[in-house]
Amino acid sequence: MDLFEYQARDIFEKHGVPVLAAAIATTADEAEAAATAIGGKVVVKAQVKVGGRGKAGGVKLAENPKDAREKAGAILGMDIKGHTVRTVMIAAAAPIESEYYLAILLDRSNRTFLVMASVSGGMDIEEVAHTAPEKLAKVPVSAVDGISLAKAKEIVAAAKFPADVADQVSDVLLKLWEVFQSEDATLVEVNPLVKTSDGKIVALDGKVTLDENADFRQPDHQRLVDEAGENPLEAAAKEKGLNYVKLEGEVGIIGNGAGLVMSTLDVVAYAGEKHGGVRPANFLDIGGGASAQIMADGLSIILGDKDVKSVFVNVFGGITACDSVANGIVQALELLGPKATKPIVVRLDGNNVLEGRAILKAAAHPLVEQADTMDGAANRAAELAAK
Ligand code: GDP
Ligand code: MN
Repeated sequence: MDLFEYQARDIFEKHGVPVLAAAIATTADEAEAAATAIGGKVVVKAQVKVGGRGKAGGVKLAENPKDAREKAGAILGMDIKGHTVRTVMIAAAAPIESEYYLAILLDRSNRTFLVMASVSGGMDIEEVAHTAPEKLAKVPVSAVDGISLAKAKEIVAAAKFPADVADQVSDVLLKLWEVFQSEDATLVEVNPLVKTSDGKIVALDGKVTLDENADFRQPDHQRLVDEAGENPLEAAAKEKGLNYVKLEGEVGIIGNGAGLVMSTLDVVAYAGEKHGGVRPANFLDIGGGASAQIMADGLSIILGDKDVKSVFVNVFGGITACDSVANGIVQALELLGPKATKPIVVRLDGNNVLEGRAILKAAAHPLVEQADTMDGAANRAAELAAK
């Protein structure tokens, strides 16, 4: 889960990372009040979960509370790369002398954590990474050892931070490591980390991604979920404990096993090319023990997606045999009754396939048709969606 900047800022503050006074606002009035409370010059910052807000006009300096009100009025409601700004953060403005970059992330390809650090931070860090990679120090961090003071100093030296800020930056790194580890993050990024004109190091912008696999031991993270920004279908699926991801296409997909569902998405996208470019509408893995209730929950989510024109149920019977799945489909359609409105192509294979197919055939539901192969089913589902 990606956090908003203000949420990252609060987590930084909790762990002692230096940040500036800030408050959030959803109206121009609130923004003016927040600026008054903070006092002096402030920055008005769009809260959207996407980078490059500065370049998109979503970060503005304001001289006084009236100015903050005006800037907030302009930024609220703005569209930044497809994200509507509903909230702004009003933060004390820092007199910036230098902008640096610090990040701790999970480096999956090297099976390690990685720190990236640069004294050329700010809005052009991506450019720096491409054109002058030597200015971006990359230091692996082992999960066992973590970041000790010695390691922090090694990183600071590798990135060639100036001597006058080296100790402060090392200290910030230790605290960011604490954030990363104790909050179960997969990314903690500060850009810019600034040196102010009075020589202080401050985190001016924060990006934090939390590992949802650790939610069970992070009950506090529940309140960070952005319910207004969540896709309603994904939210409904989550409530029912389903592994569902909304995609852009028209063919609803249900399968058992993440690998099978992934390859189903591929064959549907491929088959769809011959039918006017229809595409898979979602990822949905109903897992091993697909009961009638799980099948009904899955079908109802997919049928509730207004973009869906047809559904492809792709099941390979293993421990849960095809006859149980077939019974599940039949009962699910009974449960759904008139809510089932779209054609459903079912491909069963594997354990007890003949029994499973016979059950569907006997039920003779008007919306259900069977296909023998995965490619055949994908093609038929795409064809039905294109109609
Ligand atoms: P991003 O563009 O989405 O990464 O948003 P940032 O929060 O990083 O802001 C973009 C830029 O705005 C920063 O690189 C700074 O140059 C500038 N900025 C942000 N906060 C302040 C501030 O408090 N004072 C000043 N002078 N500039 C700021
Ligand atoms: Mn930034």
